[in-house]
Amino acid sequence: MTDYAIAGRNLTMQFGTFRANDDITLAVPAGERRALIGPNGAGKSTLFNLLAGQLRPTSGTVTLLGRDVTRVPAHRRARLGLARTFQLTDLLDELTVRENVQLTLAAQSSAHRVFWRPLGSVGTLAAEADAVLAQWDLGDFGDRLVRELAYGQQRILEIALAMSRNPQVLLLDEPTAGLSPADARKLTGLVAALPRTITVVMIEHDMEVAFTLSDQVSVLQQGRVIAAGTPDEVATDNRVLEAYLGE
Ligand code: ADP
Ligand code: MG
Repeated sequence: MTDYAIAGRNLTMQFGTFRANDDITLAVPAGERRALIGPNGAGKSTLFNLLAGQLRPTSGTVTLLGRDVTRVPAHRRARLGLARTFQLTDLLDELTVRENVQLTLAAQSSAHRVFWRPLGSVGTLAAEADAVLAQWDLGDFGDRLVRELAYGQQRILEIALAMSRNPQVLLLDEPTAGLSPADARKLTGLVAALPRTITVVMIEHDMEVAFTLSDQVSVLQQGRVIAAGTPDEVATDNRVLEAYLGE
């Protein structure tokens, strides 16, 4: 039996009379890179909200690393190894870059049941934060307020924060949206270089980026999965071509 890192089965999400997700099944084996593509409004971010726990499905189940987490809240799914970024950034704008990393690291150590740190460990946390920043090429920006960063740097910082929690599953919602071609290339390179021990599911509007980064692609349209396969298979699928021509 395949070990799925993350799986949604028969997920339906009803908002009033509108079905944003309609019986979606998406099962991603450990180590896979999966892209989710589809026109605006197809239900991609809603699916992430169901997988990560920001929303509870109207029906269906979510498993994370083999465990049923359908009723587990988002912060506990995070502790179980799931990290995500949002379509719009989720950073604390009025804090410095280093403070954002420190907060994430502190939250992570409390997740490991270290509820206090001895005096003097604040320095350790700052040093750890600087190591994370250096790793992501943000070493020069530790003292800057997040709102002073260029948008591309904010998106990279978001992924750095998600990765600093050592997740086993990483969900990226449109990581290259709004980036200059140069920043998009840089970010694509960083995602491509993530260790294969991490399962990555990414929503990506740019087909070329999606196809370059992924092993498998799932295509959503109007709340349903209309196609899934390798990038080559999906790129030549008539339903997919129609969905995009009709956008
Ligand atoms: P995508 O990420 O593929 O562009 P979304 O999942 O964000 O699409 O949205 C899918 C549809 O569900 C859209 O029509 C959106 O307006 C609707 N939707 C998303 N969230 C809500 C909500 N909380 N309440 C009502 N409708 C929503
Ligand atoms: Mg979206």
